[in-house]
Amino acid sequence: MPINTDKILNDIFEVSEKIYRDISNPSERDHSQIFEHLTTLGRVLVGADRASFWKWDRVNHTLWTTAATGAGKITIPDTTGLVGKALHDQKVVITNDPYNDPNFNSSVDKKTGYVTRSILVMPVSNVNGDFIGAFQVINKLIDDQKFHEEDCKKLALAATICGLALESDVFLEESHTDKLTLLRNRMGFFHDFKQKYKTVMEDSARSMALFICDIDKFKRVNDTYGHNIGDEVLKQAADILKKNCRECDGVYRWGGEEFIMIMTDADASVCANVAERIRKVIEDTDYVGEECTVHYTMSFGVSDFYTYKSIEDNINDADQKLYTAKETGRNKVVI
Ligand code: GH3
Ligand code: MG
Ligand code: MG
Repeated sequence: MPINTDKILNDIFEVSEKIYRDISNPSERDHSQIFEHLTTLGRVLVGADRASFWKWDRVNHTLWTTAATGAGKITIPDTTGLVGKALHDQKVVITNDPYNDPNFNSSVDKKTGYVTRSILVMPVSNVNGDFIGAFQVINKLIDDQKFHEEDCKKLALAATICGLALESDVFLEESHTDKLTLLRNRMGFFHDFKQKYKTVMEDSARSMALFICDIDKFKRVNDTYGHNIGDEVLKQAADILKKNCRECDGVYRWGGEEFIMIMTDADASVCANVAERIRKVIEDTDYVGEECTVHYTMSFGVSDFYTYKSIEDNINDADQKLYTAKETGRNKVVI
């Protein structure tokens, strides 16, 4: 296929403008779209038929992408295929005869009937040089229709921006996460009100409720068993809260030994039932360490979330209930 340089340049300018617009538009916070455009940029730069950007989740040993087909998030083990190999070996992988390459995962082609002829995978790192993802381009459409080392030069710009964008996503996520319990923290809480709960709050047919809960006499736990055991108890309580909520609900470490749960499409009585179930689980589940067993309880304050009130005032309502629970004996749910 002859190369039409003007068209390629024009495509690059167009996608660059989209990326710029996505990043600078404050109402556009869907980062998956930025990665989709960056993937298109890579595809255009090398003249490939397809492109995907794979993010590497080192903790869970997975690779995931949203841009490969536009069909939601795809997650695969990080040992899979040529992307897995490129990240494992920390170097570019090029194959122009994939069906004879033992590392090529042909299952997608078998399922879809697509014929892969050439692949280039370029690992992508953050500014510290840690690999955090990989760019894959499939089926070169120009020149001799094969990928060569030279193509890395063309892909480098998109790969670099992907690395930076991904790293800033990771930083943002980390700043919203509590290191001890791995729950979202107060910053994550307020962030979620700008995104996750915004649509719920804007829909008058939907409702929200919340509870705030606090470990009873936790200072005594620290004083009796030490701060490290206190930390373990906090982690266990956080895990119980997390395990006992729905995917759509949010659990946050509000501070110290206080947590908040936001439930969508629920009223205070539904929320109180959940709180009561959790209260019972906590009461029945001691922390069992190597040197000690800690029995602990929690108190809960529940209230409906009213959209005409500020977030702070809604939390105050629940906090008042929590105060009553503490004042009237602890280890209870007050609605
Ligand atoms: P109450 O039943 O009234 O809630 O009594 P309390 O002792 O739990 O309440 P208070 O708020 O006086 O004490 C909370 C304690 O939680 C004090 C603080 O040292 C401890 N704490 C806060 N954050 C952490 C943490 O991350 N780890 C540990 N181990 N302790 C923490
Ligand atoms: Mg407490
Ligand atoms: Mg407290």
